[in-house]
Amino acid sequence: MGRTVVVLGGGISGLAASYHLSRAPCPPKVVLVEASERLGGWIRSVRGPGGAVFELGPRGIRPAGALGARTLLLVSELGLDSEVLPVRGDHPAAKNRFLYVGGALHALPSGLRGLFRPSPPFSKPLFWAGLRELTAPRGKDPDETVHSFAQRRLGPEVASLAMDSLCRGVFAGNSRELSVRSCFPSLFQAEQTHRSVLLGLLLGAGQSPRLDSALICQARAERWSQWSLRGGLETLPQALTSHLTSRGVHILRGQPACGLSLQADGRWRVSLGDGSLDADHVISALPASVLSTLLPAEAAPLARALRAIPAVSVAVVNLQYRGARLPVQGFGHLVPSSEDPGVLGIVYDSVAFPEQDGSPPGLRVTVMLGGSWLQTLEARGAGLSQELLQQQAQEAAATQLGLKEPPSHCLVHLHKNCIPQYTLGHWQKLEAATQFLASQRLPLTLAGASYEGVAVNDCIESGRQAAARVLGSEPDS
Ligand SMILES: Cc1cc2nc3c(=O)[nH]c(=O)nc-3n(C[C@H](O)[C@H](O)[C@H](O)COP(=O)(O)OP(=O)(O)OC[C@H]3O[C@@H](n4cnc5c(N)ncnc54)[C@H](O)[C@@H]3O)c2cc1C
Repeated sequence: MGRTVVVLGGGISGLAASYHLSRAPCPPKVVLVEASERLGGWIRSVRGPGGAVFELGPRGIRPAGALGARTLLLVSELGLDSEVLPVRGDHPAAKNRFLYVGGALHALPSGLRGLFRPSPPFSKPLFWAGLRELTAPRGKDPDETVHSFAQRRLGPEVASLAMDSLCRGVFAGNSRELSVRSCFPSLFQAEQTHRSVLLGLLLGAGQSPRLDSALICQARAERWSQWSLRGGLETLPQALTSHLTSRGVHILRGQPACGLSLQADGRWRVSLGDGSLDADHVISALPASVLSTLLPAEAAPLARALRAIPAVSVAVVNLQYRGARLPVQGFGHLVPSSEDPGVLGIVYDSVAFPEQDGSPPGLRVTVMLGGSWLQTLEARGAGLSQELLQQQAQEAAATQLGLKEPPSHCLVHLHKNCIPQYTLGHWQKLEAATQFLASQRLPLTLAGASYEGVAVNDCIESGRQAAARVLGSEPDS
């Protein structure tokens, strides 16, 4: 009898793992178990008035690097090339990013010349931060917070304005708690290998293996900074789901896994609400904290390591305005915690993807709320109403972008514990988990945003690597 692999979690990581398992020359029987009725996890796109697309989760995928190319390959394999909406290198959404500091929007310098010009909110041209970086000694610690790393290498202003904002934009997190080794591994590695991050990034560039396809070549030639899909990014999990069904993958929706136990023959028994499944191998693409609650007593050390990986919540407020204009054209702006503890940033969706504005078109922006403001409200356990989140977002759009008229359409979603936090020492938690799995020879493989990258590209890659490990083939890097 063939092997059965159960994949837990139908977010993009679990879908990618199932996809790669199902394409093996001799595929095992694959059962994908998802708690909700919908697949895709945090990737969710909804239609508004006139067909406008509103992303409740991710809204753009980066094509850069080996992982970006792999995702484009997947898009082509799924027949989605004609649906891709690229942001080309010469587009304002590719060139312009802003920081909101001191009550004003400031364009971040782009290109080499920009480094030599005064660039408020920074007090000196960023060339000086670069010079400091080139001459700073190598760090000695096995890990360091992003803030401490940036302060040591680039100076206090870059640390408290640029890196603080970047951590809020990518992880909705606090740069004074997040690990540079795990959140920005290329920066950490560059310093380790070349002493300087700038040198390391320059010398290390172009070393990843080159994948090729018509879409990848187009993305390179046109220097795409990111891309989406015409009907929204949820088209990707939807296409994966159809593909899996056509390949005979058994998809169980509305079936939360509620426990894992090891049988005498070494196989897993996966308990579901109203039944169970036996599996030779389990790939968990669940958040680490959820998996930690499902593990049996024999796996307590693993559960401990997984429980220690926290996650934060984000409130996503999609706003649409009729007849309104933005004061600047760009991807969006980020807000450092010193400026506003609650507003992480605002994405100018209409600039990057005007094709999704609906008919008649209306200006779409998304306000991301989180940080210490949201944490404090969540800890109090009260007062976090839709009205409050909407009011906070509208105020931010009015103050920061001059969008003072009420929006014509508004969606408010509080995503609880949606972004894992790779805090200082995250690598040790991963090492403890890996060592336990290896020493106990447990037929369990971990995938998903909780471990080695939260971006959609990272999650797809984690699914691919998990499938390769289960199939016994080493994933090529
Ligand atoms: C607001 C927001 C904006 C983002 N923006 C971007 C962006 O612009 N670009 C980018 O690249 N990335 C972005 N990301 C990150 C990226 O979208 C996520 O990291 C990624 O989608 C996570 O995928 P996943 O499959 O690992 O996890 P999830 O999406 O969390 O999937 C896990 C799945 O497991 C299911 N599940 C939970 N418990 C059980 C159980 N007991 N049994 C069975 N199933 C269960 C859940 O229902 C879910 O479907 C964003 C994330 C958020 C939240």
